[in-house]
Amino acid sequence: MVKSDIEIAQEAQELPITDVAAKLGLAAQDLEPYGYDKAKINWQAIKKSESNGHLGKLILVTSISPTPAGEGKSTMTIGIGDAINNQLGKKTVIALREPSMGPVFGMKGGAAGGGYAQVIPMEDINLHFTGDMHALTSAIDNLSALVDNYIYQGNDLGLDPEKIVIKRGLDVNDRTLRKVTIGQGSKFNGVERPASFQLTVGHELMAILCLSKDIADLKERIGKILVGYTYEDQPVFVKDLGFQGAIAALLSTALKPNLVQTLEHTPAFVHGGPFANIAHGNNSILSTNLALHLSDYVLSEAGFGSDLGGQKFLDFVSTQLEKKPDAAVVVATVRALKYQAEKSTDHLKEENLESLKEGFANLDRHMNNVRSYRIPVLVVINRFPTDTEAELDLLKSMIEEQGFPCEIVTAHDEGSKGAKAAAEKIVELADQSDYEIARSYDMDDDLETKVAKVAKRIYHAADVEYTDKAKEQLDRLKKMGKDKLPVIIAKTQYSFSDNAKELGAPTGFTLHVKGISLRNGAGFVVVSTGHILDMPGLPKHPAALDIDVDETGKISGLF
Ligand code: ADP
Repeated sequence: MVKSDIEIAQEAQELPITDVAAKLGLAAQDLEPYGYDKAKINWQAIKKSESNGHLGKLILVTSISPTPAGEGKSTMTIGIGDAINNQLGKKTVIALREPSMGPVFGMKGGAAGGGYAQVIPMEDINLHFTGDMHALTSAIDNLSALVDNYIYQGNDLGLDPEKIVIKRGLDVNDRTLRKVTIGQGSKFNGVERPASFQLTVGHELMAILCLSKDIADLKERIGKILVGYTYEDQPVFVKDLGFQGAIAALLSTALKPNLVQTLEHTPAFVHGGPFANIAHGNNSILSTNLALHLSDYVLSEAGFGSDLGGQKFLDFVSTQLEKKPDAAVVVATVRALKYQAEKSTDHLKEENLESLKEGFANLDRHMNNVRSYRIPVLVVINRFPTDTEAELDLLKSMIEEQGFPCEIVTAHDEGSKGAKAAAEKIVELADQSDYEIARSYDMDDDLETKVAKVAKRIYHAADVEYTDKAKEQLDRLKKMGKDKLPVIIAKTQYSFSDNAKELGAPTGFTLHVKGISLRNGAGFVVVSTGHILDMPGLPKHPAALDIDVDETGKISGLF
């Protein structure tokens, strides 16, 4: 019988985390261990490594549009990372995001890779891990509580309860909390006002955790968060209320990168977890920079398809890092491409070369989009057991016809051995990399220009339409002089357009901008399109129904 991800992970022989750290030249005193197999890196070690003058090669891992058939982006990141480390013997770090319990309990299940390409301990990583997600939720809700208490206790600045823009947050998919009324009942329960919750991973504090370079930066960014507006329409920031110190204190431990290992003992930083459809979609700047200082090859996985996490990494996140990426991997699967054509999972196990040819349009768009940044690209086919030789040959030849190198990877079943050829190719591309990055927009462009450039070049939209509400929000931003910040477009992950049902490679559509919100501490503006929600719901059969724990504490069903 085929073993599940969790069964494989539970059979792993883990190294003590001190041995994993030693591979990166870190000593026991550089670590803050969380038990046997997890540790945070302390500030002293981070500062020391920052001045070591070394920066490894940076490899971005992105993919085609996600489908229920699965792409296996984390699996490929881990498999190729393991292969660079163990098959080629080169010092490597894998940098991933921390999973959110929303998808773990909802649709998707765990997010620590799969098969023989996983990061461990997978149960911890998928559930409470080192507590970062809980620290964030606590910081988010304490901030809101402090703001509502400020209004209740006299509200000296005249903050208008109807114009508060920060939301409460939870790491739970709970649609009932999208719109709530707080402070109901007696006047001693606070001032009644409409409020809403968002998923912790989409909150500005998550973005700040991922972008801050140290505690001083963290505190400064928290101080800059826009809380809301006064009755006279004047903006109020956290620093006007004086809460930045307390909120930074709550996040100061969470800011330190988490070190774990893969099944094959490659060091992995799993830190920060913003989604790429509602937020900026990449692991923390601190962990990627640290990995670059401590190793020769760093693989960083961006969320969802290359139109979301990939675009955000190339246009924004890489401007915050110590270097731009040297090469990129675009992950595709035969099944997901057939799904792009068939729009159903019913017949994906059957060979269908016609569907594959039609669905290839999605990969074609993604790989050419990534190449348009001028970065060297390797396309990787994540092989599933149901793929036929004819399908694999056809897909590889279609990719190569477009002038892209392509490798088939079997790391899910074979571990690093199954990713050796891909590792050799991506190392060669990264080593020879020498290019000027061609980003989608100039930082000097105004907001509408930036959105239009991404919409046209990456999504292939014909035009962009703003609702009246979005136009009003944009006017407000202009008055505040904040309309030239980088843009983070919130959009469905399933389509290049803002309509989740338009699969393949749609063109000529209109992108509908419904909302514009300033993330002043993070230093960007979130532009929401279509029907994207920052608080998802649970499906009819949530993944939680399959999760269990026995009397010894052994967890099952996480995938
Ligand atoms: P992503 O990062 O794209 O969301 P993951 O790497 O987390 O995808 O993989 C999602 C699921 O698909 C995991 O349970 C994993 O075991 C499974 N999976 C990935 N690649 C393969 C493969 N080649 N064969 C079988 N299952 C796979």
